[in-house]
Amino acid sequence: MRVGIELVRARLRAPFVAGWGEVEERELVVVSVHDSAGRVGYGEAAPLEPYDGVSVEDVLGELERCRELLTRARALDRAELLAQCAEASVVPQALAAVDLALWDLAGREAGRPVWALLGAAAPDPVTVNYTIAASDRAGAAAEAGAARAAGFRCLKAKVGVGDDAGRLAAVRAVAGPELAIRVDANGAWSLAEALATLRVLAPVGLELCEEPVRGYEEIERLSSLVGVRLALDESAEQAGALDRRRCHAVCLKVGRCGGISGLLAAARRARKVGYDVYLASALDGPLGIAAALHAACSLAPARACGLATLSMFAGRPDPLPARAGQIAPPTGAGLGDGLIDWYRRS
Ligand SMILES: [Mg+2]
Repeated sequence: MRVGIELVRARLRAPFVAGWGEVEERELVVVSVHDSAGRVGYGEAAPLEPYDGVSVEDVLGELERCRELLTRARALDRAELLAQCAEASVVPQALAAVDLALWDLAGREAGRPVWALLGAAAPDPVTVNYTIAASDRAGAAAEAGAARAAGFRCLKAKVGVGDDAGRLAAVRAVAGPELAIRVDANGAWSLAEALATLRVLAPVGLELCEEPVRGYEEIERLSSLVGVRLALDESAEQAGALDRRRCHAVCLKVGRCGGISGLLAAARRARKVGYDVYLASALDGPLGIAAALHAACSLAPARACGLATLSMFAGRPDPLPARAGQIAPPTGAGLGDGLIDWYRRS
């Protein structure tokens, strides 16, 4: 099996601001696995260092080790190859790239889409939230209005950045009473700040707050003190986070879970102890988004997923656009046809 590794830089239309910092350009690593019949499977690593602490250099180093293993492989036994790579690589974002490429290739060899390989009955469209990128009041309100007009039923805004109360009030005024508004502090608040701010934001009417404080123990404590539903995101990767239910929900990501296989395993564990599970991207490219859509077909999350992020990129038409607040999994075998073209644009 021949393995390609390629770094792709993709600019965002505007800087994306969150509690962890700001990003203007994404560095994505595309992995290709080529079988002896000339078929190719593609996967993607989408590390976001200010957010997850994983650098592109870390990912490239780990992928070189996986390449050695895969190059020696004679046949495609996806689970076995992935297990070997998991032993060689401790960076889940790197493992995710291999996992996605192997699922894509398996689908191409079988002539079937990944959602079918995962046992889903149909490629049902996945309900997604709109992520508000603007950190100013007028910009956020304008985005909320456009998202509502486009048919989104759930809006998500970062908090812990600037004038949260004023911005969220403006978003609610434009969104109307029926749209869900989700916020994400990315762990930026202390327990006292979270208590105070969630009280101030109460009139906005929040669907939930993702990662209000840092660590599942603090989130569990906060959860016993506030009426707002809380969700683990960053803290979901801490050992023990999914052993029992710490709060209402957990947000899972393809990259952080080590790919589709790891994500489905984490979702099973989380649901078993009573978490509500939904999925999101870390500003992934279309291969990562497609992987999450296929996984969502199998999981059928009850809440909107944070997968409508490809429209944030500049100069690259969105191959998986949301329509009326939903995204359909791509058509074709494997992860889907034509996704790689997005990465080839400069
Ligand atoms: Mg989050």
